[in-house]
Amino acid sequence: MNDDWICGRLGEDEPWALGAVNPPIFENSLFTFETAAELAEAIKDEDERYVYWRGTNPTVDLAQRKLAALERAERAKCFGSGMGAISATISSLVSAGDHVLVLGSIYGPTTQFLRYLEKFGVTHTHVGDLTGLDSAIRSNTRVLYFESPSYMSYRLVDIAEVAAWASGQGLVSVMDNTWSTPLFQKPLTMGVDLVIHSLSKYVGGHSDLVGGVVAGSTELIRPIALTEYQLYGAAMSPHDAAKVIKGLRTLPVRMAAHQERGLAVAAFLDAHEAVRVVHHPGLASHPDRGLASRQMAGFSSVFGFELGSDDRQVVAAFLDRLKVFRIAVSWGGFESLVAAPALTIEESVRATMGVPVGLVRLSVGLEPADTLIEDLALALEGVVPLA
Ligand code: PLP
Repeated sequence: MNDDWICGRLGEDEPWALGAVNPPIFENSLFTFETAAELAEAIKDEDERYVYWRGTNPTVDLAQRKLAALERAERAKCFGSGMGAISATISSLVSAGDHVLVLGSIYGPTTQFLRYLEKFGVTHTHVGDLTGLDSAIRSNTRVLYFESPSYMSYRLVDIAEVAAWASGQGLVSVMDNTWSTPLFQKPLTMGVDLVIHSLSKYVGGHSDLVGGVVAGSTELIRPIALTEYQLYGAAMSPHDAAKVIKGLRTLPVRMAAHQERGLAVAAFLDAHEAVRVVHHPGLASHPDRGLASRQMAGFSSVFGFELGSDDRQVVAAFLDRLKVFRIAVSWGGFESLVAAPALTIEESVRATMGVPVGLVRLSVGLEPADTLIEDLALALEGVVPLA
């Protein structure tokens, strides 16, 4: 099925929509039943039946159907945040005494969640690259977790190779695919078992939504839906599902524009004398550019670059001089954003993550590329060129 069709129309011609161009939002916390027996039947299968919003909702279901189709998954379950999806998914796959392998750098709070699980007897090990996996796996390892591109480093993981390794070892592989969106990378088609997205980034696209999703086989999604979704309570609201549906309508055109503007800005920085290196997997200079063309269909527009200075004051002054790029957390919206991780991450964590002080993260929005480049050029005037 065509991705543009999935984003724009899939599931929207159901009779209950009554021909409304935007599907109605089911704003009800509960559903009623004709008989006590019917309710008892429905409660036995709260993954398929509508009983209570903390479990299922038709508007949320529609968003899930679209996201599952985009990821070529049997099922998807939407959550109230990306972290809701991540914590529920990992919890569903491990028990006390189990071990999780993490490959490459990943979103900080995901690591924090793995550390939190230690109090329940679940341990984890971080491995830098594929070569370290064989020596890090243990008899109690259950899950292999990774992102590609890896968080903040923007190095790629060979998804098919890692998924095959995990499957050969009997592990469930879980990948956070937020960076690429389901349009530019489809990890399930490369053998990954479960794919997670924060919908708060490009899928929402308008910085007015926090949400998450996990997609995969019915066998893996159903237990999450029936247990962790219900018990942790990070349910997606129908209003947020409507924003996901709206975000998906324009995702293909927004991503094409994000890609074009992101690459133009990255190329400008790559050629600038005050910039040490640009970490954008779409640039010819990126060490994984070959792998990118094999496993990715495009590039989003959040990437890092290193100023030729490791002085915190120089980095902060650079950010302060930017006028179009706004200083904030998060990424993937219509607006261009800038952040310098070293100025916000605690020093010991920064060192272990290998984030250089001079690293600046840009989320290139939908403003004209030349406006963004001019903003960066002016701000870079205050940074001493590399010797
Ligand atoms: N995964 C990645 C790669 C992220 O960058 C984020 C948030 O920044 C998350 C997951 C968590 O998503 P949320 O903020 O929706 O909980």
